[in-house]
Amino acid sequence: MENVQSPQHTIVMKFGGTSVGSYESMKSAVQLIVDTKQRYPNLVVVTSAISGATNRLIQSAVDAANGDIATAEKTVHELTERHHKLIDKFVDDPNQWLELKMQINRLLNDFSGLCNAIRILGELSPRALDAVSSLGERLAVRVLSAAVNAAGCPSTYVESSQLIITDEVFQNALPNMARTEARCKKVLVPILGAGKVPIVTGFMGATEAGAITTLGRGGSDYSASIVAVGLGADEVWIWTDVTGVMTTDPRIIPEARTIPILSFNEVSEMAFYGAKVLHPRSIRPCVENGIRMRICNTFHPELVGTILVNDVDPADEGKIKAVTSSNDYQLVTVSGSSMDGVMEISSKIFAGFSQNGITIPMVIESSSEQSFCIPVPVKEVGKVRGVLETALESEIRRGDIQSIEVSDPVDILTVISSGLKKNPTAIAKVFAILVENGIRLRAMSYGASDVSLNLIVNSQDTKKAIRAIHKQIS
Ligand code: ASP
Ligand code: MG
Repeated sequence: MENVQSPQHTIVMKFGGTSVGSYESMKSAVQLIVDTKQRYPNLVVVTSAISGATNRLIQSAVDAANGDIATAEKTVHELTERHHKLIDKFVDDPNQWLELKMQINRLLNDFSGLCNAIRILGELSPRALDAVSSLGERLAVRVLSAAVNAAGCPSTYVESSQLIITDEVFQNALPNMARTEARCKKVLVPILGAGKVPIVTGFMGATEAGAITTLGRGGSDYSASIVAVGLGADEVWIWTDVTGVMTTDPRIIPEARTIPILSFNEVSEMAFYGAKVLHPRSIRPCVENGIRMRICNTFHPELVGTILVNDVDPADEGKIKAVTSSNDYQLVTVSGSSMDGVMEISSKIFAGFSQNGITIPMVIESSSEQSFCIPVPVKEVGKVRGVLETALESEIRRGDIQSIEVSDPVDILTVISSGLKKNPTAIAKVFAILVENGIRLRAMSYGASDVSLNLIVNSQDTKKAIRAIHKQIS
């Protein structure tokens, strides 16, 4: 990758699960690490678990809690085999080969023990789940680091329970940045000083007392940002299996293209509304610390990918840049002819949602304040209805609220276009497209962000709408 500034620059590279999940992909990752290290002596690598591992680990623990240990046994077998195979391919030195295989076996043996304990207890605590689900990364760093060493580039693995100190919100932990920064400097700087590449586990952290936590699914991107801030790095490069951020999902529209430059705001909106390019939380630490981010393809490193910047080129205003969809919602509409105290009603509803751990992407209100609707993930509709009925019990009893209706399945389309408020051309275009294609707009939300317009359409219209809107992207 060109565009080198100075060899003093510190780079954090993160590899996703598919980038380390097979011999071929790990070979590309190793080559990228070796090449980059030559140009940037201060290189830190963060890796995810090999593809599929985290899902398997979690499923094993869930099944164990239900009394079924067979999944855990199968997982031990599969993960042993996949990691051992990688070790066979990458590590020649017989002592290292043996030592590494024994380490893998030990970790998976501990995992077996944990699953047995979970089965006996018949209960899976969030804390136990973090200990289980972070194992994939702990396996991966050992193998990747050995492979980098075997390629002649000195490397050492680091478990990020040493680096990322978090709160005690298991499965969705937040770092304490002051503590984390001190740890990153203490642990990583000497490794870099010795000329080695630290290979760090993504996804995991630890509480002050040392209990393993995780940062939420897909959290390795976030780990990379946290470590970058902790070290005062200059850039974060996310290596994945697509070439940067695409104009839409290439599985739906084969003509989808890479967007060369995107603002942090734009990519945040896309990540929030379903584009699986980056963990949504990974962006802010980089924005706040002036760290550049790039998203590149492990399998096509020659392609530039997407660079994320603070401000977009004013020449891009009014252009549609991307369209994404977040699927499987239903609209829940609450209405009543005398729903006056809308503020009071809203506050009751939101209190109910937050007590029940329900998050919703948006709220759409009518101006007469007589109804409002919220898109709710299909699998949460029952729970949401229950919360609404409890929170609004007195309004329903008095007849102030007449109905709580649930729609057919809908999807949320998000159209990305910068400077929407100044230049609403894109909005006009999108509406014209919907009309031309006979697509019914169920609801919409616009205004909270200057770079995105959210449209709610019936699920059966989603592909057609995306296809038509995507045609407008120049
Ligand atoms: N392995 C973790 C997951 O699958 C973290 C990540 O891949 O970023 O969620
Ligand atoms: Mg992953």
